[in-house]
Amino acid sequence: MKNVDYIIVGDGYAAFFFAHQLILHQKSFVLFSADKKGASQVSAGIVNPLVLKKFTTFWLAAEQIEFLTKTVSEIETYTGENYLIQEKIHRIFHDEREKDLWLMKTETDELKPFLNPDFETLEIIINPFGTGEVNHSARLDVNGFFKGISAYLQEREMVVKQKFDYSKIEGSTYEGFTFKNIVFCEGMGVRKNPFFTDIQVIANKGHHLKVKLSEKLKHQYTLKKKHFLFPLNNDIYYYGGTYDPNERENEIDDFKTEELKEGLSAFYPHDFEVQEVNYGFRPTVKDRRPIIGNLPDHQNYYIFNGLGARGILNGCYFSKELYEHIENGHELMKEVDLKRFNK
Ligand SMILES: Cc1cc2nc3c(=O)[nH]c(=O)nc-3n(C[C@H](O)[C@H](O)[C@H](O)COP(=O)(O)OP(=O)(O)OC[C@H]3O[C@@H](n4cnc5c(N)ncnc54)[C@H](O)[C@@H]3O)c2cc1C
Repeated sequence: MKNVDYIIVGDGYAAFFFAHQLILHQKSFVLFSADKKGASQVSAGIVNPLVLKKFTTFWLAAEQIEFLTKTVSEIETYTGENYLIQEKIHRIFHDEREKDLWLMKTETDELKPFLNPDFETLEIIINPFGTGEVNHSARLDVNGFFKGISAYLQEREMVVKQKFDYSKIEGSTYEGFTFKNIVFCEGMGVRKNPFFTDIQVIANKGHHLKVKLSEKLKHQYTLKKKHFLFPLNNDIYYYGGTYDPNERENEIDDFKTEELKEGLSAFYPHDFEVQEVNYGFRPTVKDRRPIIGNLPDHQNYYIFNGLGARGILNGCYFSKELYEHIENGHELMKEVDLKRFNK
């Protein structure tokens, strides 16, 4: 039997950011990965302090971005790479009215730090009303992040590439392991977890395209009109993602591929070739807050889920909240506590 402080089930943002907290605090752990692409691996990696439909911000946006910057520097100390790419989002304006609204919002204390009042007009794309830059926005190198941390963990034999089999857990033992705590981070896979059967996560399916652009963009920006467009490597760009809260099958939805192609054509007037279509299921919650907590009858069984459309910021920030709760008895914020559903 191998004794570990923690078992982590899952391999997305929730699992990896929590694993980082354990590395930071020198806790022993093993992480179970079903070795399939979850929502995290298909995500765009956008770090954005704004809701770009209405030019508003959200709960803890500035604190979350600050904490992410600190966390990626900590990760750099053991992987040797900083995965945060400082490419700013440029919102393509639909009309004059949107520009006026943006300028009006730059006058408010809440939004002033995030909205750049100096507009730009970009080459190559259709943007007759120009673009507005989002200060403090950035992008995570998703592929690099997962590859880098996985490699670090695998070298230390801390990853088990196996689907965690719930029927094999007995108290605080699982196969060859005994653990102090177990943290379930399965995203929408939580629906198969027999311990957290009442968890209120709703799948929101998202698709993205990888496209080859015939005319390269001139700027290293992340462009946003209906969806995000940014460069990956050479002439290949990421374009996505869509939203679909209806329960859908585990397959590509052609109508979403069409939606993306139309969205891109609306501002990119040149030829492009679709090279890949990918999709994933965001674990969302009605009140748009993550879910963190443990079971009353198995107090060392924890859940970390509900990261929604902001897996990076929520996963990073609330992994510390969960760690401090387990190890130092800090009370959970009521907004994210699993107990809020006990009514
Ligand atoms: C198209 C798209 C674009 C997105 N873009 C962004 C973005 O730009 N920025 C952002 O912040 N967020 C983005 N998101 C949202 C973000 O991806 C999610 O919030 C996040 O991935 C959720 O992370 P998670 O770790 O909870 O779940 P997941 O990423 O789904 O990870 C859970 C993992 O656990 C594994 N698992 C499940 N059950 C088991 C088991 N029994 N044993 C072992 N492993 C198991 C699964 O295989 C899965 O890989 C996007 C999502 C989509 C779909």
